[in-house]
Amino acid sequence: MTENSLFDLSGRVALVTGGNGGIGLGMAKAFIEHGASAAIIGRSQAKLDAAETELSKIAGSDSVLAAQCDVTDRDSVSSVLETLVGRFGGLDILVNNAGVNRRADEPHLLSAEDWEYVIDVNLTSIHTVTSLAFPYMKERRRGKIINIGSMMSIFGTAYAPAYAASKGGVIQYTKSCAVAWAKDNVQVNAILPGWIVTEMTNQFKELFPDRHAMIVGRTPAGRWGQPADLGGTAVFLASSASDFVTGTSIPVDGGYSVW
Ligand code: NDP
Repeated sequence: MTENSLFDLSGRVALVTGGNGGIGLGMAKAFIEHGASAAIIGRSQAKLDAAETELSKIAGSDSVLAAQCDVTDRDSVSSVLETLVGRFGGLDILVNNAGVNRRADEPHLLSAEDWEYVIDVNLTSIHTVTSLAFPYMKERRRGKIINIGSMMSIFGTAYAPAYAASKGGVIQYTKSCAVAWAKDNVQVNAILPGWIVTEMTNQFKELFPDRHAMIVGRTPAGRWGQPADLGGTAVFLASSASDFVTGTSIPVDGGYSVW
């Protein structure tokens, strides 16, 4: 990475929720490879430890902060942000990536508990984390917020109605913040991943072989994605290359959503 490149993240500080595995870890790696420091949060200490070790190999442990934190716990998020800003001096990039899914055969069979859990983690927590993070960006008059949606931000699904509702909400929340904070030089965008091999989906082929085959058949790229496939778009949206891009949602899906 040459200095002053549009995609150079040297000196930038990123917070990736759910950065201890899957897509979040893939994006945290890409940020560090492009010069940033990265803080990752998640609930599982074992996954945090493993991810911290992996990230430290790229540019040393000084560039990495791993902290146990549940994104639905406002006090815990606030405390992590204070630690992060104390250690790195500020916050430039926030990726709201933490997410969960609960399935039922049909919408009316999804329990109230499962509905609430999915909406809390996938949507309400984005508002919580963003509301606490934005003042640090406003103070320095620069920031990049990247929200992780899904193909279910666009399409409906019979078996994951809360997930689809939460991911649809991600697009509208992204637009709302983008409109509000363009004046503060904070760009807010979303990435809509296609079907990506992670802990969330690793049993999908076994559990739903027909749907798995349908997805591969419908994806022009002819395959499921890997977490690394998200890195380029994440770096673009985190860097000065995207300074005039705000409020948009970019599918990274091997073409799944185009036909
Ligand atoms: P993973 O299950 O691998 O990652 C989910 C991450 O979220 C984990 O790091 C998990 O950490 C964290 N997390 C979950 N709940 C909480 C919580 N309450 N507080 C803090 N962290 C939490 O799945 P993916 O990498 O696939 O998912 C990442 C994002 O990408 C999600 O928003 C998902 O909806 C989205 N996505 C995934 C797709 C796919 O095909 N895989 C497709 C489209 C979108 P921990 O377990 O330690 O809490």
